[in-house]
Amino acid sequence: VIFTVSSGGLVAYSDSKSYHNVGSSQTDFKKKRVVVLGTGWAAMSFLKNLDSSKYDVQVVSPRNYFAFTPLLPSVTCGTVEARSVVEPIRNIIGGEARFWEAECTQIDAPNKKVHCRTIQQVGSGGKEEFVVDYDYLVIALGARSNTFNTPGVEENCHFLKEVEDAQRIRRSVIDCFEKATLPNLSEEERKKNLHFVVVGGGPTGVEFAAELHDFVTEDLVKLYPKAKDLVKITLLEAGGSILNMFDKRITTFAVEKFSRDGINVKTGSMVVKVTDSAISTKEMKSGEISSIPYGMVVWSTGIGTRPVIMEFMKQIGQNKRRVLATDEWLRVEGCRDVYALGDCATINQRKVMEDIGVIFDKADKDKSGTLTVQEVQALIEDIIIRYPQVELYMKNRNMKNVVSLLMDSQGDDKKSLEMNIEELKSALSLVDSLMKNLPATAQVASQQGAYLADCYNRMEKCEENPEGPLRFRGEGRHRFRPFQYKHLGQFAPLGGEQTAAQLPGDWVSIGHSSQWLWYSVYASKQVSWRTRVLVVSDWMRRFIFGRDSSRI
Ligand code: FAD
Repeated sequence: VIFTVSSGGLVAYSDSKSYHNVGSSQTDFKKKRVVVLGTGWAAMSFLKNLDSSKYDVQVVSPRNYFAFTPLLPSVTCGTVEARSVVEPIRNIIGGEARFWEAECTQIDAPNKKVHCRTIQQVGSGGKEEFVVDYDYLVIALGARSNTFNTPGVEENCHFLKEVEDAQRIRRSVIDCFEKATLPNLSEEERKKNLHFVVVGGGPTGVEFAAELHDFVTEDLVKLYPKAKDLVKITLLEAGGSILNMFDKRITTFAVEKFSRDGINVKTGSMVVKVTDSAISTKEMKSGEISSIPYGMVVWSTGIGTRPVIMEFMKQIGQNKRRVLATDEWLRVEGCRDVYALGDCATINQRKVMEDIGVIFDKADKDKSGTLTVQEVQALIEDIIIRYPQVELYMKNRNMKNVVSLLMDSQGDDKKSLEMNIEELKSALSLVDSLMKNLPATAQVASQQGAYLADCYNRMEKCEENPEGPLRFRGEGRHRFRPFQYKHLGQFAPLGGEQTAAQLPGDWVSIGHSSQWLWYSVYASKQVSWRTRVLVVSDWMRRFIFGRDSSRI
């Protein structure tokens, strides 16, 4: 039996597709049905900011909690406990919304349905399948770890994506120490067990290597004194440097600090195979292949597409992409009433540039006098709302307000209009180079969630009084202003109570003071007072008693 979920209750229908009603009828509802897929950063921020009294909200996710991922590396070594970084999703959504602990198996956009499967066995019938109808769908499914199809990775490596992964790593680190101290082991075998390999020199890999180093030097060597000189941590990175999304000063500091700490950083080294006892790497320059025995490998090389998203992309003709393409209002291209945010989506920059091309085609036409003053105004307004950098560019170049600039050129002075259009074109090519795909971070995901919730909260009001820019394909204005990302900076904790911080305006700070900034930012960003108190008390517990090394 497959169930379909309406606003009134469950409607079951058998495989023969004859419906029978278990709850109230599907046409009962007055409120629009919003279905949210996922309980990660994007979904949590959307649900926290949404006025759920205005909609019939249903959430589908295999996880009935939100996890504060930036603290997962701390969970791997027991600096923070797993339960301190999670918040039950039911605490976030409140009483009015409904949560289904299930995974979405298929999105049927033409029929506005989502197919789901419970993650637990229900009764004796195994896992149950059900269908949820929606008016608006919010896809916030995140991404999965990317193995780049490297043989043996799936079977032999740890990933660091979920809370369970962090817990597994914690147990595995202790396992390696216990194994290495068993009697009758050769020196080589002990060394192998105590060789920890981290693959991927991005922020997560670097932070985990630093955490592990602190755990070993501050806590474990006291308990396993014989292991002290045998422990080795290796960080492998296929590219030319670690932390390559950070300022050069941070990268250099990190490499020097790791070298002082004895963490072996190998750049230009690509993993080609992992067996249950050794990891094979290929040197990018020489092509030389070598094999290193290991005790534990943590794989952290970036993210890939979830199968359900891949299937959906095929269905809507986006199969050549890595993530779902949306417009600047986070609407999935080629679908009605479907929104996607967070790691599973990206704003289609090519489309945006095409739109700008349209603006210029129109502006160019003005040379022959077809564009009205009002149209020019609308076009420029549109550009500036989408790309505030254009205005900044104009200011920096001591140019007058762009609108008045183009206005000035109305009339006979065609030459000056041409010049101004050229200026704008070069401004936009600069914008083009500034516009990179948004990074797959919690910061982007949560800002998108809050933005979309705000749009949903003001849907009716903006229907009547649209507040977005004028449409240049069609009539009138867009209902909402497009999504704009505000970068608030990024951290790279490097161990030994030192952190590198890169804040807006390329302000770089490295050292102990940034570590205190990191503590305060991460405490303040907690989703509830409960987790805030738990996290801060975990930090204090660690300062006083050290980390717990029990293997539970
Ligand atoms: P997620 O948060 O991954 O949420 C996806 C949700 O979808 C989950 O609830 C999942 O259970 C659910 N789901 C999966 N499959 C299904 C399905 N089939 N059906 C229904 N639901 C499903 N970013 C930062 O900005 N700063 C940091 O310091 C930082 N540190 C990080 C450290 C680690 C260890 C990791 C792993 C990530 C870190 N990130 C950080 C990145 C950040 O966590 C992600 O960018 C963010 O989680 C993306 O949010 P999301 O909502 O798109 O996806």
